[in-house]
Amino acid sequence: MNHYEVLGVESGASTEAIKRRYQQLLLQIHPDKKQTSEESAPGATSDRFVAVTEAWKVLKDEQSRRLHDAQLAQRNTHNFCAQVDAEELRRANRWSVACRCGAEYQVDPEGEGQVEYECDDCSLRIQVQHPKP
Ligand SMILES: [Zn+2]
Repeated sequence: MNHYEVLGVESGASTEAIKRRYQQLLLQIHPDKKQTSEESAPGATSDRFVAVTEAWKVLKDEQSRRLHDAQLAQRNTHNFCAQVDAEELRRANRWSVACRCGAEYQVDPEGEGQVEYECDDCSLRIQVQHPKP
């Protein structure tokens, strides 16, 4: 999730500018101010509301914004944490792979072909190459 895209602001925008944008969006999408035209898509407004609120929560705080920036940069350059050969896991008899963030990927020993696993704790992924059946 790119919080800048959710709010529609530049990644270099000041906190003040982001706040103005957030308040603008809130007025448009707040669930209490639901327009009749949106009744055809129930839930759409509140989903957007949740996303916008979450984005602002992250971006208003310098520390969490920096972390988010780092995650975005990481996603762009290193989408994959590692490429793993399932044979190595089988030899080690250990079906988990450590992620850079410290979490662990649980690999399915019964997987077939190339399987991607997403980290629960960060935005990284690994690719596991299982032997062809
Ligand atoms: Zn991770």
